Amino acid sequence: MTGATAAGPLHVPVDPALAGLLTLLVALLGLAVGSFVNVVVWRLPRGESLSRPPSACPGCGRRVAPRDNVPVVSWLALRGRCRACGMRISTRYPLVEAGTAVLFVAVAARFGLDPGGAWALPAFWYLAAVAVALALIDIDTHRLPDRIVLPSYLVGLVLLAVASAATGDWAALVRGVVGAAVLWTAYFAMVLAYPTGMGFGDVKLAGVLGLHLGWVGWGALAVGAFAAFVLGGVFAVGLLVTGRASRTSGIPFGPWMLVGAAAGVVVGEPLWAAYLGLLV
Ligand SMILES: [Zn+2]
Repeated sequence: MTGATAAGPLHVPVDPALAGLLTLLVALLGLAVGSFVNVVVWRLPRGESLSRPPSACPGCGRRVAPRDNVPVVSWLALRGRCRACGMRISTRYPLVEAGTAVLFVAVAARFGLDPGGAWALPAFWYLAAVAVALALIDIDTHRLPDRIVLPSYLVGLVLLAVASAATGDWAALVRGVVGAAVLWTAYFAMVLAYPTGMGFGDVKLAGVLGLHLGWVGWGALAVGAFAAFVLGGVFAVGLLVTGRASRTSGIPFGPWMLVGAAAGVVVGEPLWAAYLGLLV
């Protein structure tokens, strides 16, 4: 990976008990962030405030009490129904919370909880949360809202710059900026050539993903970009073959860009090294 592994004396192994405790804390953080992601996915496309009013049941309008607002646990305790009116609460809510927690732990496992790797965690936790929100909003509305995508350029750049400054690996930041430009340009060209297949929302998201993938490495950038088309293509062919989609029905591509980027971050570097190894 990046210079984080070459950080020398900073790179101390964490003992197993501490690692277990830290992993638990990371999972709890992921659950809490996932709970907020649920709010974003519901309210942002509707133009509603993310902070006010407090969560209420869409069936009876009763405010959700704090004890009924604990991620995953409350949904299980209430067996997926509103305490007041019994209306079904979608399984999506606990799944988003649990899924975000899994992604947070995966990010921690990828970059390490030791002082060398931990500098990258805020940037990639932020990206994970944004990815879950954008994937669901794209599936729901076929849109990737500017209100999430555009600030992510600035947040990503600042968090990755902090990580580069802490580890002294400025080459990673340069790679990230190049990655953003390359992926943005490639998607822009595709939208010009094939306007019905993708939208400008995908172009803007491509820049954010290129920034983070490039920061991790060239292998992550290559695998992350390529995996989106492989996974999205297989899925689209599957839908066509099983008759669940016609050639003209729009399949949002954003989720595949995000899943591809996740693959690039996690396995991109070793996969790319293995691929290059096959060539020599
Ligand atoms: Zn209710």
